[in-house]
Amino acid sequence: MNTCISNGFIITADKTCSTMNGCVHVTDDIITYVGAEKDSPAFAAYKTIDVNGGIISPGFVNTHTHIPMNLFRGFANDLALMDWLENAIWPAEERLTGDDVYWGSMLGMAELIAGGVTCFNDMYNFMSDTLRAANETGIRGVIGATIIDFGKSIDERLAEADDLFAQLADNERVNAAIAPHSEYTVSDDSYAKLLKSAEKHNCRIHVHVSETKGEHEGCIERNGITPIARLNSLGVLDLPTMAAHCVWVSDSDMEIMADKNVGVMSCPQSNLKIGSGIARVSKMIDSGITVSCATDGAGSNNNLSMMEEMTLLAMLQKGSNYDPKLIPAKTALQIATINGAKVIGQDDIIGSLEVGKQADIIVLDTTGPRYCPSANLLNHMVYSGNDSDVVLTMVAGEVLYENGEFNRLDINEVMSKADSSAKKLLG
Ligand SMILES: [Zn+2]
Repeated sequence: MNTCISNGFIITADKTCSTMNGCVHVTDDIITYVGAEKDSPAFAAYKTIDVNGGIISPGFVNTHTHIPMNLFRGFANDLALMDWLENAIWPAEERLTGDDVYWGSMLGMAELIAGGVTCFNDMYNFMSDTLRAANETGIRGVIGATIIDFGKSIDERLAEADDLFAQLADNERVNAAIAPHSEYTVSDDSYAKLLKSAEKHNCRIHVHVSETKGEHEGCIERNGITPIARLNSLGVLDLPTMAAHCVWVSDSDMEIMADKNVGVMSCPQSNLKIGSGIARVSKMIDSGITVSCATDGAGSNNNLSMMEEMTLLAMLQKGSNYDPKLIPAKTALQIATINGAKVIGQDDIIGSLEVGKQADIIVLDTTGPRYCPSANLLNHMVYSGNDSDVVLTMVAGEVLYENGEFNRLDINEVMSKADSSAKKLLG
């Protein structure tokens, strides 16, 4: 199906993050033109969407999520990470069923889609149920097969991973990663086994790294080296690695990360709420590391807004370094889009509006007071906008959400079922 998205302010998020007034042509699932209306080739569009001067942007790539944890939104808040995990979240998760995960995922994906997120990178249990929700909602994503030395054995978990990869063989929008929870929850033996599995599946590794001071220093006490140095010594970083948080990584860690091309998923809001600290994102970027941004799960954020995340990431770097020049609006936008695509290894197909890429596109309404005066729309999107501005979300040329309506799901049913699951789990 051919769609013309016309009369917009285009933010490409390409190498120079160029902007222009114009239109985007979509042929089936592919972007076939980006530019001024007057230069656009003849195009027989089945559907033309006039966005009335609104922003046309690549969808956000939310690179670290625990989507089913939308069920835990608001539960056991205002606790330290280990207290929250050990005394609240992990006991509640023992009662989870696949259906709970499915409805939690449907809720999380609805929130992502309505907030302009076209691709997620998840880590959780019951992966088949997250996949079921992804297939139904139409969102693009990477599902991490979680490995943790807790509950099931490593062999059982790797068999589940094999099963997930088998289910994804012909899936055009969803693929998988191997996701060791962290340095401190996975043994050396388990790491050795999961690395073999990741090599077999030719996939990326998704892992939490140096999220809190206690975790970082605990690793040094136990092993004499930092989590990054330990993951490197185990051979993890020889595979393409996606590292969440990295709040406490040292300067020498950053050298290793740049050398090994480790991608970072910074989750500023979750890090603030759990009191973990502020990641040194500008320093990481200066060190040559690709940094993306992400929401983490709704249990610790508590929403999945990438509009908030990119703004907060930029503000925190400016404020904590006393330097307003750090992370300008263009960079923040790139961190939330093309950098996310790079971190998950898909920047050849998504992350920017360029001819030949997948049509993962969002439109923001700019007719409200937040976007007036009408100059500097990119600055408005980063510093003034919010999720409610998103009026269209398209993945692979398919409109999933338009003007408050979901095309593939019944949002009232999703909210009702998710609410029932949460009541059952949390009382
Ligand atoms: Zn996480």
